[in-house]
Amino acid sequence: MVTSSNKSIPLNVVPSHSSATASTVPSELQTEAGQTGRNEQKQRYNLAKLAKRLRRQVGQAIEDFRMIEEGDRVMVCLSGGKDSYAMLDLLLSLQRKAPVNFELVAVNLDQKQPGFPEHILPEYLESIGVPFHILEQDTYSVVQRVVPEGKTTCALCSRLRRGSLYTFAAEQGFTKIALGHHRDDMVETLFLNMFYGSRLKSMPPKLRSDDGRHVVIRPLAYCRERDLENYAEAKAFPIIPCNLCGSQPNLQRQVIKQMLQEWERKHPGRVENIFRAMANITPSHLLDRELFDFAALGQDGNTPVAAQDSWLMPKNGASDSALPVGDKPDNTNNTAKPSSLNSGVAEN
Ligand code: SF4
Repeated sequence: MVTSSNKSIPLNVVPSHSSATASTVPSELQTEAGQTGRNEQKQRYNLAKLAKRLRRQVGQAIEDFRMIEEGDRVMVCLSGGKDSYAMLDLLLSLQRKAPVNFELVAVNLDQKQPGFPEHILPEYLESIGVPFHILEQDTYSVVQRVVPEGKTTCALCSRLRRGSLYTFAAEQGFTKIALGHHRDDMVETLFLNMFYGSRLKSMPPKLRSDDGRHVVIRPLAYCRERDLENYAEAKAFPIIPCNLCGSQPNLQRQVIKQMLQEWERKHPGRVENIFRAMANITPSHLLDRELFDFAALGQDGNTPVAAQDSWLMPKNGASDSALPVGDKPDNTNNTAKPSSLNSGVAEN
């Protein structure tokens, strides 16, 4: 006999015999449910592994460069992009276990770009219980007014943003300013400076600002961008895009990014090797005379350097003629050490 309760069970679930129980659900549905469960379990496992790796890398960078110490008040710059969300999240989780006490305060600058969703960051930060400040400054209008049409606006925009944030940090007495640049940003910047600025320099993991008032740290220095992307996606951070201003992306950086991606595709591990090379420099095997005293090698102590070199100096004083024929740099407009570099190249 078919009971009334059985009538409400969808036909494709009702077993053909009247004594149906949960254990008699068709095997294909059991398999599907089992598969879903296994997938969720795997996702949780992968996220835990990823989080562990990122925490380890952030912890290592902090230790290697002594980024955070007892009593520090760290201003965590939050743009609303994946990297800064991940940085805040990872720093918070390290803070909970750290043997030293330090303070974390999230700070965002609302630059008044059209369509900027003002509520997203405060809601998120309140939900995770982090102290925060939202600063407001209409740098968007300044950038629109000053930068000629068709030119990339990011360099000026970033400079203005940095200025506002640094001023706020000084007013509030923060001892460190944390920025969310990662390993791939640093490698890209190395090539940007080489290709467009004839300089061998990147973004340091820790530096003192030009005016000497701030120490800037980059706790994500050892983290790969791909990992941060995956982490941000898995944690469902409420990302705010950085193109609300309508700016063209920095084309030079895009070119470098593509070049590095192509290298990595053909030669996995190459970007990591380049990154490691930045921490493993041999000044005596480069050409910077300020870093290594080549003149002192094999020098005759009795003869003044100027006199020793006099036979090399051309009468008209053109210093490039000391280079062997054919080795003259092709970009003769570039000085060896330009005092300022163009859009976003010499980031620090
Ligand atoms: S994309 Fe727009 S908001 Fe972002 S840095 Fe560039 S100019 Fe500024």
